[in-house]
Amino acid sequence: MSYDPLTAPGPGEGLAHVESYWAATAGPAPADDGQLNSGIDTDIAIIGAGYTGLSCAYYLAQRYGARPVVLEANQPLWGCSGRNGSFAGPALGRVALREWSARWGETGARSLWDEALAAVGTVRDLIQEGGIDCDVQPDGRMRLAHAMSTVKLLEDDARVLQSFGSNCEMLSAADIAAQHFRGNEAHAALRTTDGFCLHPMKFGYGILRMAREAGAVVYSASPVLKWTRHGDVHHLGTPAGEVRAKRIVFATNGYTNELLHPALKARLLPVLSNIVVTRPMTEAEQAESNLVTRDSISDTRKFLNYYRRLPDGRLMLGSRGAILESGSAPHRERLLQIVRRKFPALGSITVDYFWGGWVALTPDMMPHVGHAEEDASVCFALGYCGSGVTAANHAGRRLAEYLGEGRAVPVHLNQPLPRYPLARLRRLGQFAAFQWFTMSDALT
Ligand SMILES: Cc1cc2nc3c(=O)[nH]c(=O)nc-3n(C[C@H](O)[C@H](O)[C@H](O)COP(=O)(O)OP(=O)(O)OC[C@H]3O[C@@H](n4cnc5c(N)ncnc54)[C@H](O)[C@@H]3O)c2cc1C
Repeated sequence: MSYDPLTAPGPGEGLAHVESYWAATAGPAPADDGQLNSGIDTDIAIIGAGYTGLSCAYYLAQRYGARPVVLEANQPLWGCSGRNGSFAGPALGRVALREWSARWGETGARSLWDEALAAVGTVRDLIQEGGIDCDVQPDGRMRLAHAMSTVKLLEDDARVLQSFGSNCEMLSAADIAAQHFRGNEAHAALRTTDGFCLHPMKFGYGILRMAREAGAVVYSASPVLKWTRHGDVHHLGTPAGEVRAKRIVFATNGYTNELLHPALKARLLPVLSNIVVTRPMTEAEQAESNLVTRDSISDTRKFLNYYRRLPDGRLMLGSRGAILESGSAPHRERLLQIVRRKFPALGSITVDYFWGGWVALTPDMMPHVGHAEEDASVCFALGYCGSGVTAANHAGRRLAEYLGEGRAVPVHLNQPLPRYPLARLRRLGQFAAFQWFTMSDALT
């Protein structure tokens, strides 16, 4: 049976990385501390070794001299952090820019933007502090109007960005063709230089190395199967050991087993996102498509397509749409058809890699960094709504600042984690929403 985080008891034990382009090109994994096979005591235990868990561990060890213990079910970076779309930009949650001031007021919107820029700063800091070689591309992000009717949405977002002082520009279809690529569904673009692409697994491997060098201990093949509390001590049971900790952190995002702790129950909707990577373009395909841009690209569809040219001349393209892993095989073909539709010059291109991963949506479409309402020693940072390359690393840092020195988590991130209403029907609700997205995209 295929894995669904809503019903599975956990993401597995010691599983190998998914066969992604990133896993194939990351080089050897840095060492970790192997499987936990004894009982140990620690101040802070972190569950999950993706960006959230590793950056939290790094900052706790490096800034505060802590010796956190990280427990990973499979391999470090096995989850989304090792298999994402590689876009690092100022994204905290998935609320459209043009809705920010209605939701948070002018001042609140401005401070959220500042925090989003700080999140990009966290990624740049990590890369610089660790000297991480992760194929960082020049700054540039483009959002494309896939239809004439959505150009106005981008213009509205551009006005918001300008009010924040952002250096953004609107590009015409002709500008895009001349400077970035020739293709379809590119009626205009909102371009900014506040984000960039990188190699997500090389980046994550760098943080793993930094965290361990700073004093964190990272166990792989050690899924937490059981949580209990005796007095002030949390007991985390793994297949071959146990960690007893004064404080615990859930850094499990889309792979969360919500039965592990009551604070997590009914709080997340894990949703699949799939990616294809093509074979390298031929010289003729490259010339005809003029696909020279190093920017990250996304579009205005409800089923947003995200894509980029990779340094070795391949095209990566991802989208949501599959509900379960078992039904995702046709999505490989669907993604290839999208590539061909967007880039007529790539009409005979083929796919070398296809994989997927589980992102975590929250009811308010915002990430949450904080602690359980009834127990301040149970912390979490999760719910990045599909945009976690910067957000997860930054959330890990903010949580480390809270745990290490009691510094308050910024207000946008530390709101109570709401429950999904009618939580048992989450998959049904998702199915209905996906039908609506399909119809709506067909009509624009
Ligand atoms: C296909 C795809 C494309 C994406 N593209 C982008 C993008 O371009 N830009 C962007 O910003 N974001 C993107 N994202 C989202 C981003 O990758 C995630 O938000 C981010 O990596 C989350 O990091 P994390 O550390 O919180 O979770 P993960 O990296 O998912 O790590 C969670 C870890 O917890 C472990 N775990 C779970 N339960 C247990 C347990 N009981 N015991 C021990 N370990 C456990 C899992 O094995 C996993 O390794 C994408 C995601 C996907 C799937």
